[in-house]
Amino acid sequence: MKTKMIIILLIFTILPLTSCNGNSDKEKTDSIQTPLPSKEDSQMLLLEKLTLDLPEEIRKAILDDVNGFMNQISLVLKLPSDTFLQADKQHFLGADYSPVDIVMLTDYPEMTLSRNNHSLREILISDLLLMIEDAREEGLTLVISSTYRTYQYQDKLFKWNVEQNGLETAMRESAKPGTSQHQLGTAIDFGSITDEYAFTAPGKWLLENAWKYGFSLSYPDGYEDVTGYRYECWHFRYITTAGTELQRTYFGDIQHYMIAFLNDHRIELERLL
Ligand SMILES: [Zn+2]
Repeated sequence: MKTKMIIILLIFTILPLTSCNGNSDKEKTDSIQTPLPSKEDSQMLLLEKLTLDLPEEIRKAILDDVNGFMNQISLVLKLPSDTFLQADKQHFLGADYSPVDIVMLTDYPEMTLSRNNHSLREILISDLLLMIEDAREEGLTLVISSTYRTYQYQDKLFKWNVEQNGLETAMRESAKPGTSQHQLGTAIDFGSITDEYAFTAPGKWLLENAWKYGFSLSYPDGYEDVTGYRYECWHFRYITTAGTELQRTYFGDIQHYMIAFLNDHRIELERLL
């Protein structure tokens, strides 16, 4: 009786084991026949698709170094997404968009301001102060001439510009309300806000060094068709140093391409990390 019980028990113990082994063997065989793509393969496949609309040199820079690209973009994707919001002639921020961490620049005596009512987002203040200090050490003063603009202010400015110069010029030279990077609270115009600024010592210094502090030239020379704006040597947008490094290494140093890429594909990219 006892032996019979043991045999029955053994059968019940072995049966599930064998059936389990049978399944796992089958899974192994299946996975050999159709292997799942590795993380690297998935990244390459997706990036091949996502970069189709980018200029060939930029696409090549990304696809030639997928690992390095994913490492750098992962730093950018970890930052608050509003740091990279797209604001241009096709991407309206809307009348309601206003950053919550706006601070008055008169609180910072180290800054040289063109007037007293300038304000910017707090996230960039420490990098801006560092940039000002480093320029000052080289005997240069970075004058802050234009900063945060509310939707309402842009509305007033645009209407005034249309009255003065006509709609076509106003569209080219100033932003329609809701489309200005200045509404982000992270854009700064330096110095004279004229083309000549590029030939002054502070203007030259900024063009060469601003990226080291996370500030990116928004409207570079020769890219009016891409950005929608003519060259503005004085207009910089803060996108953090992770942003300027990604822009320089993989996006041909053109902010517009990087911001558009991040905004169009953020969800797919985040899934790949
Ligand atoms: Zn500007």
